[in-house]
Amino acid sequence: MPKVIAIDGPSGAGKSSVSRIVGEKLGFLHVDSGALYRIMTWLCLKNGVDVSDQAAIAAFAASAAIESRPVAGHIAFFVDGEEPGDRIRTPEISANASKVATVKEVRDAVTALLRSLVSFGDLIVEGRDITTAVFPDTPAKFYLTASAEARARRRRIQDAEKGIADRSQEAVKEALLARDKLDSTRRYAPLRKADGVFEIDSSDLTLDETVAAVLEKARSLLAPSASRGDS
Ligand code: C5P
Repeated sequence: MPKVIAIDGPSGAGKSSVSRIVGEKLGFLHVDSGALYRIMTWLCLKNGVDVSDQAAIAAFAASAAIESRPVAGHIAFFVDGEEPGDRIRTPEISANASKVATVKEVRDAVTALLRSLVSFGDLIVEGRDITTAVFPDTPAKFYLTASAEARARRRRIQDAEKGIADRSQEAVKEALLARDKLDSTRRYAPLRKADGVFEIDSSDLTLDETVAAVLEKARSLLAPSASRGDS
């Protein structure tokens, strides 16, 4: 049975950077589940679907074709044979993805796709509902968080480095908090800290320290002896 490390947490908590490095070190494929909600949103906008119309989004979700396959240590997603790249990382997509992600049909399609990825091998999957809804039975479950200030600071630097947007830290923080609210109050699979998750607050940790904490815990939780309760 392939192993799965599940990591949830709010926007900008560092899930992607941490998951990428932990995946590399353990030989687990990194899966960025948020990219799927972003791709759905991008496709809606491209196809003129009104992202405030839940029924229209639900109907569209059934026809959205997203292919996935392992590429250089992660699962890459393709639409019409092409990776969307940074086109799904704009502030417009970020803001609308949280709305599209409230639609049950979208969540069901993404969840089914994510579960199918175990056919490619061991996975480290990050998102908002991975520990609660997508892979709730894996023993290696993490909740990665950080203060709103730390998250906004990191996200602003990231966006500026990538040339995606140059907004004030206050504007970035407001956008993050608006997404947190939508993600944690929605009806289907809201972001929440599941029972049995290992929580890490990375506000005062470096990336290396956070990676080390996840690695150590994941190794012990996934060790064969851990499931027998004698570790
Ligand atoms: O992780 P990222 O910020 O790229 O995710 C974009 C949006 O997708 C989130 O704000 C959230 O609304 C949604 N999402 C989700 N469930 C996941 C991953 C992302 O609802 N597992």
